[in-house]
Amino acid sequence: MTDAPFLPFTRPVLSEETYREVEAVLRSGWLTTGPRVAQFEKDLSSYFGGRQVRCLSSATAGLQLALLALDLKPGDEVITTPLTFVATLNTIVQAGGKPVLVDIDPVTRNMDVTRIEPAITPRTRAIVPVHYAGLPVELDVVYAMAKKHNLRVVEDCAHAIGTEYKGKKLGSFGDIQVMSFHPNKNMTTGEGGAVVTDDKDVLKRIEQLRFHGIDREAFNRFGKSGSQHYDVVLPGFKYNMMDIQAAIGLHQLPMLDGFITARKAWVERYRERLATIPHITLPGAPEFAHRHAWHILTVLVPERDAFIDKMKERNIGVGLHWDAPHLFSYYRKTFGFKEGDFPHAEHACAHICSLPLFPTMTEADFERVIKATQDCL
Ligand SMILES: *Cc1c(COP(=O)(O)O)cnc(C)c1O
Repeated sequence: MTDAPFLPFTRPVLSEETYREVEAVLRSGWLTTGPRVAQFEKDLSSYFGGRQVRCLSSATAGLQLALLALDLKPGDEVITTPLTFVATLNTIVQAGGKPVLVDIDPVTRNMDVTRIEPAITPRTRAIVPVHYAGLPVELDVVYAMAKKHNLRVVEDCAHAIGTEYKGKKLGSFGDIQVMSFHPNKNMTTGEGGAVVTDDKDVLKRIEQLRFHGIDREAFNRFGKSGSQHYDVVLPGFKYNMMDIQAAIGLHQLPMLDGFITARKAWVERYRERLATIPHITLPGAPEFAHRHAWHILTVLVPERDAFIDKMKERNIGVGLHWDAPHLFSYYRKTFGFKEGDFPHAEHACAHICSLPLFPTMTEADFERVIKATQDCL
């Protein structure tokens, strides 16, 4: 139907320095966790105002280990949102918890914080707010609830590196934050993730759990200064980040703010032009001061699946974030979730899609998307 090349809904932006750095890692003979991961953790720590950072193979690993570090007991409950990637729910279950969902605010699409307190029971142990699309959740309310009911907070910041809440960067304050460096996210390491926290016990557990339960890092073990012996203190996982990944991240972090500025500029153009197209609903903004990281630009359209198919025929990729996770068969069977439990989230999940948005999008890409959107609706 079209000669135009496929336009993906997102695409990572890499610099020449990155290609050189990755080549240098490959030539160095040290490919896995080593000096570049250590440097990347340091750089991230500076970015987050000096808080401690531990890099991992993914944000999913980060969520799992952060939640495991909370030592949940069978039946313990963790409150989160139904408008999230299934990894948020899966990792709660993997850590021994029961996911308890509260519906979203239909305007911001983030968890409706007024629904948190009614969902708290004597078994509630933690809240996992998800900063959807890069828009911050109203954290003052989340942390007030956590303080009042003695709960931990693990923020799923997979969309939200660079997001600011009331003038403060997410990750620079609060309890525990988890970042994603998947290629679709705002900055990438290929695959990768990081946990940010100042809690020494949580940090120690993550260090142990991310590498076989060994209480010492591989680089020390194999380097000149390390001993050949180690102890295993628990049955850990294999979730370390490689130096190859960190080499990419080292050159993404300095570009992050520019990426977000470019995303925001495209979003403003979209807002202006989409306003003239009927049958399309844009996300709203909360009242409090914030900086949106614009990981994705989501809109609601009436016939969503048909819309995505028609856009595909025009060689334009449109994302779907996401099918409602509580309606997957495992979650229905295990926790008894059903249609109608969270009407605002289910409405969003049935109509939402993500239009192409990435820093290096061109004017021609943008015009193609606008025209195709008009035609396909
Ligand atoms: C992408 C994503 C994750 C998982 O990130 P990975 O780095 O791919 O493991 C978790 N939560 C949300 C909301 C996400 O979008």
